[in-house]
Amino acid sequence: MSSCGSVVILGGGVQGLTLAWFLAREGCKVRLIDRQACGREASWAGAGIIPPGQASDSSPVTDRLRSLSSGLFFKMSEDLLALTGIDNGYRICGAWHLADDQGSLDQVIRLCQVERLAHEVVQEPLVRHRLDWLGPDVPAACFVAQTAQVRNPWHLKALEAACRKSGVVINDHVSVGKLIVERNRISSIETSEGMIHGDQFALTAGAWSCGLAASVNVVLPVRPVQGVIVLLECLYSHFSSIIEQGKRYIVPRGDGLFLVGSNEVEIGFDKTVNPQTVEELEAWAQQMVPGLLNARRVTSWAGLRPGSPDGAPFLGMCPNIENLFLATGHYRAGLQLSPGSATLVADVMLGRKPAVPIDPFSPLRPEGFLPRGFNN
Ligand SMILES: Cc1cc2nc3c(=O)[nH]c(=O)nc-3n(C[C@H](O)[C@H](O)[C@H](O)COP(=O)(O)OP(=O)(O)OC[C@H]3O[C@@H](n4cnc5c(N)ncnc54)[C@H](O)[C@@H]3O)c2cc1C
Repeated sequence: MSSCGSVVILGGGVQGLTLAWFLAREGCKVRLIDRQACGREASWAGAGIIPPGQASDSSPVTDRLRSLSSGLFFKMSEDLLALTGIDNGYRICGAWHLADDQGSLDQVIRLCQVERLAHEVVQEPLVRHRLDWLGPDVPAACFVAQTAQVRNPWHLKALEAACRKSGVVINDHVSVGKLIVERNRISSIETSEGMIHGDQFALTAGAWSCGLAASVNVVLPVRPVQGVIVLLECLYSHFSSIIEQGKRYIVPRGDGLFLVGSNEVEIGFDKTVNPQTVEELEAWAQQMVPGLLNARRVTSWAGLRPGSPDGAPFLGMCPNIENLFLATGHYRAGLQLSPGSATLVADVMLGRKPAVPIDPFSPLRPEGFLPRGFNN
């Protein structure tokens, strides 16, 4: 069994927990640090949409990462259940992508054609007939059969339990202050509980990664991008697939709960929910699915996505620091990309060749270098 010695993981969201578990399974001694209970930030707040992928070796690396991840999700969910007894709610439910005036439906159809993903395009006048639960203003839609969803809080609970069962030491409620570098290597990190040492370190602090990287003079263009979710409850069972229109979506959980998201707003590290955003999201959902007009608003919340300039993550070795690795900046796609990202980063940390080239995910890539496929 290969090993990477003792690893310290900075941040216990979906990225940190998945990487910690994967490394522990490989025989590494892993410590994970989070300044609160694990999995309470963006990873908890997200909608849990997992788009499918069947990219080929000649596809853009972002599509290959999505494909790798979606291919791993089912097995990972089974392994989590077997190890912890916790069901993460992963299920293939399909997604209806609705036309909008930004052309995002065409983009989805093109992607499905290129990757030979099972899909069905329905146009007027058939839309009305086939999707009789849909509101009046949708001229076309495309069903992507293999889209899945996961229940974020359940998934995080399962990951944390899997980490503990696999020997990961979790230091929650411990804050990382700064990283100490000596001769291009991290020698230790300063935390609220004193100095912590390790052989290798992974930065998985989501929207807060930029500040920690800055403590070692690394420029990491990760910024907080707020997104709101509205939770509706309704005795309505006419559709069980996700509905997406551009960047907005309705995720039916199958138990009478519907997540409606989301927007993007940049107001720093602020999770205050704007009531107007809640009204707008709810109104949009009810316009798309009039059956939700009777829904009760249960609650709403906001999370801070780790935004990167091109929407793609930063993965692999940190430039100029030999024993610091990155798995951050996943923006709108951190849940769906988590098993793939953790696999690639673990491979690099273990000295193995990753299945998808990881260098293009370096923070040194030119701006706009990495386009992304699906919208969320
Ligand atoms: C509204 C919304 C909807 C979304 N929907 C989807 C979706 O459908 N599908 C999808 O794939 N993605 C979705 N996302 C995006 C996804 O949630 C994120 O990309 C992902 O959760 C990022 O995970 P992370 O582990 O990098 O960050 P986080 O989950 O934010 O975790 C970072 C962790 O680092 C810790 N930390 C930070 N600073 C320190 C410090 N100094 N010391 C110690 N610990 C620290 C934090 O406490 C936190 O636990 C959505 C996001 C939002 C907000």
